[in-house]
Amino acid sequence: MINTTMMQYFEWYLPEGGLHWKRAAAHAAALAEAGINMVWLPPAYKGAAGAASVGYDVYDMYDLGEFEQKGSTATKYGTKEAYLAAVKALQENGIAVLCDVVLNHRMGADGTEQVTVTEGVATDRNRDITGKKQITAWTEFHFPGRAGAYSNFRWNASHFSGTDWDEAAKRNGIFRFEGKSWNRETDTENGNYDYLMGADLDTDNREVIQETRDWGKWYQDTVHMDGFRMDAVKHISFDFCRDWIAAMREYRGGKELFVVGEYWAKEIGKLTHYLDVTGRSLSLFDVPLHFKFLQAATSDGNFDMARLYEGTLTGTDPEHAVTFVDNHDTQPGQALCSFIPAWFKPIAYALILLRAVGTPCVFYGDYYGIPHDGVEPVPGLDILIKIRERYAYGAEHLFFDDGSLVGFTREGDAGHPDSGAAVLLSDSAGGRKRMYLGERLAGCRMTDALQNVSDTVEIGADGWGEFSVKGGSVSVWVTQPAWEYLYTRC
Ligand code: CA
Repeated sequence: MINTTMMQYFEWYLPEGGLHWKRAAAHAAALAEAGINMVWLPPAYKGAAGAASVGYDVYDMYDLGEFEQKGSTATKYGTKEAYLAAVKALQENGIAVLCDVVLNHRMGADGTEQVTVTEGVATDRNRDITGKKQITAWTEFHFPGRAGAYSNFRWNASHFSGTDWDEAAKRNGIFRFEGKSWNRETDTENGNYDYLMGADLDTDNREVIQETRDWGKWYQDTVHMDGFRMDAVKHISFDFCRDWIAAMREYRGGKELFVVGEYWAKEIGKLTHYLDVTGRSLSLFDVPLHFKFLQAATSDGNFDMARLYEGTLTGTDPEHAVTFVDNHDTQPGQALCSFIPAWFKPIAYALILLRAVGTPCVFYGDYYGIPHDGVEPVPGLDILIKIRERYAYGAEHLFFDDGSLVGFTREGDAGHPDSGAAVLLSDSAGGRKRMYLGERLAGCRMTDALQNVSDTVEIGADGWGEFSVKGGSVSVWVTQPAWEYLYTRC
């Protein structure tokens, strides 16, 4: 068995021009060679912003860059043909493909309707500002450019719970449609966080339930993906999401379908509640761990590293944790901007990639850099991914017993030649620490694969070794043959 390493294969500011799917196909072999065996691709359907859309402003989920709609045939990432070719190329290189699924809202409607609404307080959606009134809402979707291909379904106000724009009055507000209530089974931020943006899907509506399932089946038949990344799940009825996933799995007839949800909350209680309610039918991104990284990276060495995993999904339910350092929302200039400072990035990546728990997701912007903001690729990230693929195996021993100098080891196992690793890091001053690697590696000499320190450590007959690290840094000790492989393979 080889460790799973996911890559989020996009960042917000990828250049427009419809070349990303071709890039993915062209990079497929190199990604596999680098040790990536799962990718999450951005939303592939036509957004309201057409060829400029990152994909979350969903307009037509049946238009994968095939129809002349919203000013172009291709999406920002390319044509449907190029998309399918990219998925195929990735899979042929042994890389599982996760598709991004946005079921919360629709944007860029084709027409307006007069709708009776009640306006709510933006910061407390359970409180109404007004009684009933009429607005002109963008809620009619009939996709003239697609002209009924694949589906005749037309959306109208009855399929939505609310919106945030009155076209007649030209003003914003939180408008809940008459006869509708915000779904109680969503996040409690702002009183009730069912409403996020655009025209919000009414997930209690039978036609909506049927249509989203019909689409999901069509999408699977068309793309043959290996799993899904579910967008904005805290804004969608928890039951609806659980049942949609179950329907997708049932349709596959038992073939594995990996699903990870984006529940953007720092509070571990919210994440575990979501996992409870959905019967743990999906994994979640470990958002609390991302914020722990941010805290550690911005506390001038005063963060208590011994408590790094407290209140994280990795700490409480690692089987359902997808760990990450940053993503397209946390990168500079984006909605949830909380970008991990450069000095801490190698530390954070060593933590998510080399520990025995969690499924790590490497961010495109960290791997390739973000030219838009002058962000350089994270140094040593390729080495860490390679170590995960080849050497981060076997029993794990944790040494999170100090406020700044912490580490962990992997014993290695017989199934992976030259495996085993020792990771030592510090958010403050450097130092030395004795760590146990297991007797399997007794007598072995180990060297820092990141070359931050240059000495060699010999593991004693008792399986212990004394390792060192510089301040604000991480060192990853591997066996001599592993080190030689890492530095001679290209
Ligand atoms: Ca919603």
